[in-house]
Amino acid sequence: MVSHLFFYQLVLVALVWLCLMLQWVWPSDPAAVCPTAPEPTPPVPKRHHEPTPFAGLTTKPHCDACEHASDLHSEAPRPPPPRMVSTRGRRRQVDTSTHFCPNPDCAYRGWVGWGNLRANGHPNGGPWRQLLCVVCRHYFLETLGTLFHGKRASVELIVRVIACLAEGVGIRGTARVFEVDPNTVLQWLVEAAEQLRAFSRYVLHDVGVRQVQLDELFALLSAVKDGEVSAAEAIERLERSPQWVWVAMDPESKLLLAIAVGDRTLAMAQRLVHQVVEVLALGCVPLCLTDGFKEYTTALLTHCGQWIQPERRQATGPAPKPRWMPLPGLLYAQVVKTVRRRRLVRVRHRVVFGTLEAVQQVLAACGWQSNTAFVERINLAIRQHIAAVGRRVTTLCKGEDGLRQQLALYHVYHNFCLPHTSLRQALPLPEPTNGTGSAKTWRPCTPAMAAGLTDHVWTLREVLLFRVPPWPQPAGV
Ligand SMILES: [Zn+2]
Repeated sequence: MVSHLFFYQLVLVALVWLCLMLQWVWPSDPAAVCPTAPEPTPPVPKRHHEPTPFAGLTTKPHCDACEHASDLHSEAPRPPPPRMVSTRGRRRQVDTSTHFCPNPDCAYRGWVGWGNLRANGHPNGGPWRQLLCVVCRHYFLETLGTLFHGKRASVELIVRVIACLAEGVGIRGTARVFEVDPNTVLQWLVEAAEQLRAFSRYVLHDVGVRQVQLDELFALLSAVKDGEVSAAEAIERLERSPQWVWVAMDPESKLLLAIAVGDRTLAMAQRLVHQVVEVLALGCVPLCLTDGFKEYTTALLTHCGQWIQPERRQATGPAPKPRWMPLPGLLYAQVVKTVRRRRLVRVRHRVVFGTLEAVQQVLAACGWQSNTAFVERINLAIRQHIAAVGRRVTTLCKGEDGLRQQLALYHVYHNFCLPHTSLRQALPLPEPTNGTGSAKTWRPCTPAMAAGLTDHVWTLREVLLFRVPPWPQPAGV
């Protein structure tokens, strides 16, 4: 006990001594002891992020679609023959102005509304009219080249089946609803998709837009939900052949400019941007908004770039090599979202080409002033895509091809047939309805109408009956 007490006292004395010694030895003013010590560095001010200007590339990036573009445009229109105007007799009652002669040997082939066609009644009392080209004496049905040609099933049934597929019901579901064989439904879908792809190519061109949003959405998830594949299988598939739906959209008119399926690679980014550029009017360089996927930069640069000869820095020596630079009008910003537990926690945006002021100016022209609005638009678009595209596409398709066909269908359906609520226009005067309902105050508007491509809402039947001419027709006919 005594030794313990003594020990404690000893420790106490030692501590007191240590404190006194420290106070004496320790300098109260560090500068006085060490006058040459460097000034404590002030806290580093948060560096203003000043992106280094893009230096340009020495070679133009490669794009597969650009290389094969020349193969596709093999069929150039021949010079148009003179128009035929009938002067004798009464006016023709059947309008043939949306048709063209399909005979490859005829000079009037492919020219719509050239006056060379006469209606010839319904052969064998069938549902479709026969048309006659008076130049080459070639008879053909008005459904030639469409899904309905040579089908015995009723038009109504085929249209409803395609509408059901466009609304996102799977092939098997549609087959059950209409009591049709699933293989027949698939066959109709394949034929409709081919026709609608041609329709999109024919109608979507020379589009002028101020903005384009490019997104990729993963498209396998719903297969897991449907119980068709297990999660493990899905992941395995995901690694083997990931399927992404690539979408390019004008956020103002909601027009889907391009839609594609494929991996999340540079080649696919190139293909999507290539498709977008083909649809746009000459000289139209919109503001591009994407997520943080880095390959978009290269893809945009490939299609919206030019060779620039840099200025000489020295008077002598060889001239600097030309550099591939973005077009002066190209604005490109990435929106990088951080999602944690399904909630958006952070949004950053990064201007890649152009200036932040220029980007905000384009957004302000659409009435989207702040950066948050800018972000919400992107989110909204993505959510819409997941509800519409993402959910719809994978219900049927085992393979990538089926996905492509449903997307081709959806592409036209979205652009031409579905009125978009945010696009509707107020009528100057409310129109009374026939029944007891309230008066109509809005004019429905589809993305294609908002983009100025058409003046009315198309029905699916109308789209499917449209005979796509082999080349663009002269305007103002
Ligand atoms: Zn002809």
